Amino acid sequence: MLEIKDLHASVEGKEILKGLNLNVKAGEIHAIMGPNGAGKSTLASIVAGKEEYEVTKGGILLEGEDIEDLAAEERAHKGVFLSFQYPVEIPGVTVTNFMKTAINETRKAQGLEEMPAKDMLKKIREKSELLEIDRKFLSRSLNEGFSGGEKKRNEIFQMAMMEPKLAILDETDSGLDIDALRIVANGVNKLKSEDNAIVVITHYQRLLDYIVPDFVHVLYDGKIVKSGTKDLALELEEKGYDWIKEEINA
Ligand code: ADP
Ligand code: MG
Ligand code: MG
Repeated sequence: MLEIKDLHASVEGKEILKGLNLNVKAGEIHAIMGPNGAGKSTLASIVAGKEEYEVTKGGILLEGEDIEDLAAEERAHKGVFLSFQYPVEIPGVTVTNFMKTAINETRKAQGLEEMPAKDMLKKIREKSELLEIDRKFLSRSLNEGFSGGEKKRNEIFQMAMMEPKLAILDETDSGLDIDALRIVANGVNKLKSEDNAIVVITHYQRLLDYIVPDFVHVLYDGKIVKSGTKDLALELEEKGYDWIKEEINA
């Protein structure tokens, strides 16, 4: 699904990613952990195609296709979803209407007809029930006055609606209370299928009590320096990142 090879990337002339390799197959959930400033969000932004980052070496393949020259929007149409891609407040546009437009625009870009209203409503009902989102929330203006938890829940709702091939969740767990965390995790677990892949970037192990990753990677100083199973996340929780630094420098 996603193959990143020797990726080097800079922002404002400063190298942030320094030879990063990552291979994510369909059907897998990968967690990326690492200290602050390691380059986790940069990686997410680059895969999604944000323009302020410059890839200086290496490449990114999505389903075997080099996506370097595609704009963020085109990548989204190919099924790449990054949380917080749409953080804007849009007064007068409801959560529901925003989703309808986003879905139909994607379908149009894929050469499909608009989704029939009846199907759209069914899908909205299904996904909002899945994520325990109430009706009142769906008719609120997008992101306007949303609490941190509501923003996160809306992100997961967007993800569930878009059914991306590759979903990247960047610290979707930060600021969530335990109930919201459970709902977010539930949404991610239900999205998981043999046809898609999910990359969860997280600072804390606790999200991984609910979303069980197939692989855990440590991103440190612009590279993946260690990979393992869920046990690696537990080890990091217990021991922090210093031992990894020592391992690298040894
Ligand atoms: P993480 O998400 O792992 O905490 P980031 O990817 O946000 O790390 O940041 C990695 C480094 O890149 C940091 O030193 C950060 O200051 C820098 N950086 C990221 N994005 C930008 C940007 N748009 N402009 C300038 N520096 C940036
Ligand atoms: Mg950070
Ligand atoms: Mg970050």
